[in-house]
Amino acid sequence: MHLSRNSAILPYRKWWSNKMTELTKLTISEALKGLKNKEFSASELTSAYIKKMADGRKYNAFVLETPEIALKQAKIADENYQKGLSRALEGVPLGIKDIFCTKGIRSTACSHILDNFVPEYESTVTQNLLNDGAVFLGKLNMDEFAMGGSNEKSYFKPVVNPWSKDKPLVPGGSSGGSAAAVAADMCAGATGTDTGGSIRQPAAFCGITGIKPTYGRCSRWGIIAFASSLDQAGPMTKDVRDAAVLLRSMAGFDKKDSTSANMPVPDFEKVLGQDIKGLKIGVPAEYRPEGLNGEVAAYWDKAAQMLAARGAEIVPISLPHTKYALPVYYIIAPAEASSNLARYDGVRFGLRENGEKLDDLYINTRSAGFGAEVKRRIMIGTYVLSTGYFDAYYVKAQKVRRLIKNDFDEAFKKCDLILAPTSPVSAFEIGDQSMNDNPINMYLNDVFTVSVNLAGLPALSMPIGLDSNGLPLGMQLIGKAFDEETIFKAAYALEQDVNFVRK
Ligand code: GLN
Repeated sequence: MHLSRNSAILPYRKWWSNKMTELTKLTISEALKGLKNKEFSASELTSAYIKKMADGRKYNAFVLETPEIALKQAKIADENYQKGLSRALEGVPLGIKDIFCTKGIRSTACSHILDNFVPEYESTVTQNLLNDGAVFLGKLNMDEFAMGGSNEKSYFKPVVNPWSKDKPLVPGGSSGGSAAAVAADMCAGATGTDTGGSIRQPAAFCGITGIKPTYGRCSRWGIIAFASSLDQAGPMTKDVRDAAVLLRSMAGFDKKDSTSANMPVPDFEKVLGQDIKGLKIGVPAEYRPEGLNGEVAAYWDKAAQMLAARGAEIVPISLPHTKYALPVYYIIAPAEASSNLARYDGVRFGLRENGEKLDDLYINTRSAGFGAEVKRRIMIGTYVLSTGYFDAYYVKAQKVRRLIKNDFDEAFKKCDLILAPTSPVSAFEIGDQSMNDNPINMYLNDVFTVSVNLAGLPALSMPIGLDSNGLPLGMQLIGKAFDEETIFKAAYALEQDVNFVRK
């Protein structure tokens, strides 16, 4: 009997499509190995991700797909491998949060007011990635101007958490598109930004790893500003090693950002696998209020035990001003945002809604262009900066911010790292009334993350296990300023014991 042509090639087609899905499962460091050993090409790897990205449209993680650009970049990577050249991320397909300005590629921060804004320049962080040979698959969804903790505040509609079961869950925010895309293998890794938790909390909700580096580690140049004294870019990845690899490429001094730190960027990967014997891990009493979710508390204890079993020493510490962190953050962040967002006037960027007089143009553009959450923050920010309230709110908040930083300075006299949960809850439903009817409830989710930004410290969130609903929970390791290495060392050790199975 003759086999038809179609059935004859069927096994190969299956083999090919299996190989394609296998490729998207690889971590960045596995992919780099495969590329170097010529097991597959950068074009094959990129095509596999392009397919995965298209198959995953139901998650709404990407707001712009750039497959042609990606394939061009992959081709260059293949040529380089042929020549025996390979840069640190040669041919690695990444997703980019839409808050990074990418030259010639629409960048909107997921706001209507930046509709069709195509930057003339590349942000320093994305340029660093390109210089290292990365491939860009597209731009990732986020809360408008990074204001939010659930990705429900995006002009491009919410992102669906790939861990959702019967009802669609939020991926966390604001870097929800980044977290969902990494969790669903739609990119090998992604960029995020973290002003008050926006890398760590979505990483926790989606069962991936993310690090907010020390303030000043990554340049803010070309990143659409939310709150300039708090914003930091960082990587979101499948595991700890990838976070180390990606951060090394993203980071570095940049004279175009006056707050960029002129410090050498260590090879973070080098410390992975090093012994953590004798490392002092602080556990802050104030992060365990009465009524803390029992499962979160249990995983926190378990993580401490795992680190102790490897020879770390667990030390109780106190961060007494923790209770002021949320109010301080929600004064300082909106204050800076109201100033940063003053530039969107309908004249220079994006959307324009005409009016009879110039004032009308401003009012019409800003009324139509900003979403409700952004308007709320502009109003709060303008209020706390206004004459008569400036001293009572803004100056007071700055003083308490210093006290919060002093708490960490004191704590780090007793320990090398701080261990704490990332979020008091796991992913909730899209449209959850308690979160959306009262903005304060949404803000309360940031209780474990904002202090780190106020103090400018580095912190990594990694998956620690699943709760009783089968949803991921995250654990944070907070380090001293510019000591990401100790974080990576401990996180890698913990990762070996947790053995989290990715989605
Ligand atoms: N959820 C916080 C907020 O809404 C943090 C956002 C962020 O880190 N960009 O401000």
